[in-house]
Formats: sequence, structure tokens, C-alpha cells
Amino acid sequence: MTRTPLIAGNWKMYLTKAEAVALASAVAAASKGLSDREVMIAPPFTTLAAVKEAVAGSPVKVAAQNVGWEKEGAFTGEISPPMLLDAGAEMVIIGHSERRHVFGESSAMINRRLRAALQFGLLPILCVGETLAEREAGSTFTVVEEQLAQGLADVTAAQMDSVVVAYEPVWAIGTGKTASNAQAQEAHAFIRAVLSRLYEKTLAERVKILYGGSVKPENVDSLMAQADIDGVLVGGASLNAGAFERIIHFQ
Ligand code: PEP
Repeated sequence: MTRTPLIAGNWKMYLTKAEAVALASAVAAASKGLSDREVMIAPPFTTLAAVKEAVAGSPVKVAAQNVGWEKEGAFTGEISPPMLLDAGAEMVIIGHSERRHVFGESSAMINRRLRAALQFGLLPILCVGETLAEREAGSTFTVVEEQLAQGLADVTAAQMDSVVVAYEPVWAIGTGKTASNAQAQEAHAFIRAVLSRLYEKTLAERVKILYGGSVKPENVDSLMAQADIDGVLVGGASLNAGAFERIIHFQ
């Protein structure tokens, strides 16, 4: 089974429009001619349209960092799927640990966002992952399985072909601590097994599972060599053009 690797950058709440356009142009130049891997960047909402324009003509895909679950309405602070499509987004990150743990988003909310994205044709990246306390308590697999089952509730097998999953252990995000290759591979294999149970094996074999958590030029090659790691979701290092270029060109 060949799954085309996806290298994704999450810019979080960083960069003004001019800074975002400069970085997006550098990512587009670094991705020129690549056909054996996909590249995606997720800028803040305010720079989506400008970033989309900056990467036009390149294979780089543009994503949002979250999405509202209604088409429109009295939902102050939310951005709807059609608005994101209108701004040029093709994909959207959903259930990032900062949304779950800093802003208190529940799995039910995350599921609504994910189903809305699918309904309107935005490709979702569903993030799952345990906290340090959960890992130390031995509940990593229980937590990850619950987040998958709840996040994917009422998502059909046909829709699953448009979903990417990202395993992001919370203790590894922005901390400089990366999961070891073995820890990451173990969690990814577990996620694929859960997807087999929730759907079926051949479908689970097709789903891309990204690793996220302090991915850097120094560790990307060995992470990407793991059988069930199909790409990376990169925070901090995606804000540095040189570092992200090296990550895109993992070997
Ligand atoms: C992230 O934001 O999804 C992330 C993994 O961040 P970092 O690479 O900085 O750990």
C-alpha cells in the first residue's frame, strides 16, 4: 500500500500578512516539481487568501487551523466552511491539542467541525494524542481510541477516504521532546488498528497518519522511515523557511 507522504506546517497564531506571504513563497519555491510527496501549510485565517495567492501555480495546499460547523449564522468568532473555501483553503486542521486543552473543545464539538468540513468539501486533518499524565497513567491507547471514535462518529467509510489523522502526543508539542521512533510507530500502528475496527482493513491501510510533536530537520528522516508514519505535522519548525524546506525534502 503506497500512501503519498504529506508534510504539513501549522503556523498557529504567528505572522502578519507580509511575513506570511514571504514564508509561503519560500515554501512554494522549495516544493517546486515535487510529485512524490504533498506539502500543506496552515496560516492564520487573516492571511489565508494572501497565502493562497502566494502559492498559486505550486503544488502547496493551503489549510485553515479550525472551522465552524454551520454555513452561516450568529456564531461570533467562528469561520464557516464555505468562507474558508472562499478564502482558498482546501484542508483544515481539527481537534488540535491547543483547541482541546487551551480552549476546552470537546470531542463532540470536534466531531461537528469535522462533519461540517466533509459536508462542504474541505479535507480534515483530525488530531489526536494523549497528555503526559495520560501516558504516565498507561492510558495512551484508551485516550487515542476514544478521541478517534468520538471525533469520527457518523463519518461514513466513503467520507473517510478524505480524512487524514494526525497523532500528536501533547507532551511533545512545542516542548522539544519528540516521541521516539518506536513510541510514534507503536501509536500509529494502534491508530490504524482502531480504524480497521471502526471501518475495515483496506480502508485503514489507505488513511494517512501524520506524526506531530517537535518535528525538526534532525529527526524527520528517522520518523518518516517508520512503516505507519505517512507524514508530519510541524509547528515551530514550519515557521523557519530553511528548516521546513529540509523537512519537506526528508530522505
Ligand atoms: C503542532 O503545532 O501541531 C506541533 C506539532 O507543534 P511543534 O512542531 O512546535 O511541536
